[in-house]
Amino acid sequence: MISIQEDVLLAPYTSWLVGGPAQFFVLPENIEDLREALKWATDSRQEVTLLGGGSNVLVSDKGLQGLVICLKKMTGTEVKTDEGALRITALSGTSKSELLKIFLKHQLAPALFLAGLPGDVGGGIVMNAGVAESFSPREFVEITEWVEVMRPDGHIDRFLCQDLRWSYRHTQGWEPGVIVRVGLVWPLIPDPSILDQVKTANKVRLSKQPLDQPSCGSVFVNPEGHKAAQLIDSCGLKGFQIGDAQVSMKHANFIVNRGTAKSSDIWQVIQHVQKTVREKRGIELKTEVVRLPREESL
Ligand SMILES: Cc1cc2nc3c(=O)[nH]c(=O)nc-3n(C[C@H](O)[C@H](O)[C@H](O)COP(=O)(O)OP(=O)(O)OC[C@H]3O[C@@H](n4cnc5c(N)ncnc54)[C@H](O)[C@@H]3O)c2cc1C
Repeated sequence: MISIQEDVLLAPYTSWLVGGPAQFFVLPENIEDLREALKWATDSRQEVTLLGGGSNVLVSDKGLQGLVICLKKMTGTEVKTDEGALRITALSGTSKSELLKIFLKHQLAPALFLAGLPGDVGGGIVMNAGVAESFSPREFVEITEWVEVMRPDGHIDRFLCQDLRWSYRHTQGWEPGVIVRVGLVWPLIPDPSILDQVKTANKVRLSKQPLDQPSCGSVFVNPEGHKAAQLIDSCGLKGFQIGDAQVSMKHANFIVNRGTAKSSDIWQVIQHVQKTVREKRGIELKTEVVRLPREESL
């Protein structure tokens, strides 16, 4: 039996720690709970917004109307080794750090890119999350065998990896619905040095990224042939600040919350960065981060 709460502040459910309240909010713990939540939304004609780990979203200060379904409690994995491969079935709210532990236990290469990724498995598929380093694998598309999606009416469809359209930080072809379960696969070829490689990669990341401050990671996607961080830095924007939202001094593609930033402060910094880079470098920066609600000004 699910519990639909009212007027729940969303800031604690996001890695930027910003955003107003959800009109209605639910934390399903399993697939049946999720089905019930979707039915409630349909019966009461409420729009649905999905949240995974909240590490790639900018939620409006005004909050979100309708039902917010946060999947972070819908967790669980099954691990099998067969035909020379490791196969993991994960519910979509399972954290990427949980996957990391499994791949590390088996000394397998996917541990290396997963170590750099916050958030949940479902969000990882939606965003085709990955790292810039030339690791192999380095994006979700490379370890995904299948994806199961619950449609708004509660039935579940399964897609094979090749039936989805994967691109840089984006996946299409599974909508509309909620990613509920994911099958991951990787050849069982252990590399005893993988833990050391993960530790080294973590040290490098810590030295380059402001991981001690709330952020959503990289705000902008890298335009073809360019690095967004270099473009922003070359326009002198490091340290640019509105309210408590600041272009990180450490990594120009990160916008950090220095304490009391509002969503609107972050959005204004984003727009200022886009305008400056457009005017000075003639390049349009597109956001990687997902604004919620979509299409509406904050
Ligand atoms: C410090 C830091 C570093 C980061 N570094 C990287 C990096 O190196 N590479 C990278 O790719 N990303 C990075 N990110 C961004 C982010 O962690 C990834 O995009 C992550 O995969 C998002 O997962 P999430 O569960 O937090 O998704 P959320 O932010 O909760 O959601 C993202 C989108 O997916 C939708 N969604 C979430 N779950 C589901 C579901 N089950 N079904 C359908 N839709 C769903 C949401 O509605 C939203 O549109 C970083 C973030 C931080 C804070």
